[in-house]
Amino acid sequence: MFNQLRHSIGSKIMIGVAIPSTIILIGMILFYSHHEETSLLRQNELARLEMTRSVIHGLDAVMLTGSAIITQQFAEELKKVPGIHDFRILRANGLEAFQDNKTIEAVNTYRGKPSFKPRSEELTIRILPADHPALLRALASKEMTSFEEVEENTRYLTFLTPIPNEERCHRCHDEDEALRGVVKVTTTMEPVLAAIRESRERAFRILIVVILLKLVLVFLLVRRLVVAPLGQVTAAMTRVAAGDLTIRVPEPGHDELSRMAASFNHMLAQLLQTYTGFQQERDKLNTIILSAREGIVVTDRDGTVVLVNPSAERLLGKSAEQIVKQGFMHLLDDPDYLASYIDNKGRAYPDELVYKEQVLSVHAARILAPDGTVIGSAALIRDITEAKRLEEELRLISYTDKLTGIFNRRRMEELLTAEFDRAARYHYPLSFLLFDVDHFKRFNDEHGHDQGDRVLQAIGRLMKEHFRKIDFPCRYGGEEFCVILPSTPANMDGHGAWGVAERFRQRVEAQAIDGLKVTISIGVAVHPMPEIKAPFDLVKVADNALYQAKRAGRNRVVMANLV
Ligand code: GH3
Ligand code: MG
Ligand code: MG
Repeated sequence: MFNQLRHSIGSKIMIGVAIPSTIILIGMILFYSHHEETSLLRQNELARLEMTRSVIHGLDAVMLTGSAIITQQFAEELKKVPGIHDFRILRANGLEAFQDNKTIEAVNTYRGKPSFKPRSEELTIRILPADHPALLRALASKEMTSFEEVEENTRYLTFLTPIPNEERCHRCHDEDEALRGVVKVTTTMEPVLAAIRESRERAFRILIVVILLKLVLVFLLVRRLVVAPLGQVTAAMTRVAAGDLTIRVPEPGHDELSRMAASFNHMLAQLLQTYTGFQQERDKLNTIILSAREGIVVTDRDGTVVLVNPSAERLLGKSAEQIVKQGFMHLLDDPDYLASYIDNKGRAYPDELVYKEQVLSVHAARILAPDGTVIGSAALIRDITEAKRLEEELRLISYTDKLTGIFNRRRMEELLTAEFDRAARYHYPLSFLLFDVDHFKRFNDEHGHDQGDRVLQAIGRLMKEHFRKIDFPCRYGGEEFCVILPSTPANMDGHGAWGVAERFRQRVEAQAIDGLKVTISIGVAVHPMPEIKAPFDLVKVADNALYQAKRAGRNRVVMANLV
């Protein structure tokens, strides 16, 4: 609750406004209250003063009658007047007068006859000490003096009025005396103190009411002028944070809050514009991604799959839901491959693989923010089955002799090099047959070049049939052919190179093409042989043997080592 108050702008303003203004209000009330008290006390003093003066005048008149008894009775009567607490006539030394016979004796002596009868009982009553400051002050100034005193928690105001020894008094009193005495009138301050108390209580009640009224007024004003507009902006901000950019805050006036609301609205408009732009760009990108022929799968920073395009579903043969459920690393059903591929950033990892009878090209990587933190992963999958098939076709074409369908010379050279190295490494025997159609020039001349071509094609077909799958039949050039026979020794028992060559020679000899027949002469070289050190030494040696076969009458096989 306290925290809530501390965090509310309204309560902060309330505290900021209420505390200083309340302090000022209390100060004002205290000032006026004090002023009123002083004024009441002053009025009271004046009233008492007036009353005392009247009393003195009365007393004066009574004393002029010359009767001390009447004077004393008058004084006793005065004590009963409301507001007068005590009334006494003192001598200058602070003793109460009319209690002994000193004055009577002095008057009788002065007048020379016993005008006044002495009292039968004398009393000495001290009312004030002789050195009472107020008494001394009154005697010295011959003016009325007042002083306050507290007795049993009650405040009294006492007036001391010196009675001058005027001419009219000289009838009874010696004219040498400066003063006849001092009248002491003590009034109670209770009524005025009660008035002051009442005034204070009233001031306090007014203070409470005014503070409450002020607080309510400040609260209402702050709420209406500050909290409500701020609340609107805050509520709008909350809705914006939740994604609603279409709202606007009212801008009623020209104060700072209205300007803040206007700035907020302007910012929102800009934000909406930018956001719409982003959305359009995103839509474009989405369209591209969705219509792409490449499969695209993207994850967020936690690795959760957030985008799967239809091509990815088609290529992987799974629905988007399945892909999301299985997770990014199981895209190709081989999490180790994909993890290793990504960790190695694709280096040294094949990015082409066979998946569900398709050749797929995969490119997967982590997506990094400019500061290097991972914000997701993405995989781009392409179906390269057709491209691979075409590439293979092209490769085959580039390796194949167009007329005969067997390997061409270029491929023969590659194969011979590879097989020679392999044979050398594993110590396998390697045989090489080189043959040439006998008198083919004459054949062409007699039957035409096209017929010659058909013969060459037939020889190609025969080579494919005759030799093993691991052998490589090639067209060496023109009407010359060769065969690489890996792991084939030279021995003559029918299984070695010579036997193979001889059986092939016999097949060609036996084969009629369009009713026509040709023969071939074959030279055979077998590695290892002292004179064969490089792959093409095999060709040289075989060619030499072929030459020997021709020279020996053609349609025969000659082994190089037997030459
Ligand atoms: P030999 O028995 O000594 O080998 O006699 P030959 O006539 O076969 O010898 P030569 O090498 O002189 O002649 C080869 C002939 O083969 C010449 C050429 O017309 C023919 N020839 C080479 N390539 C082709 C081809 O692709 N098609 C056809 N029809 N003939 C070819
Ligand atoms: Mg030839
Ligand atoms: Mg020939």
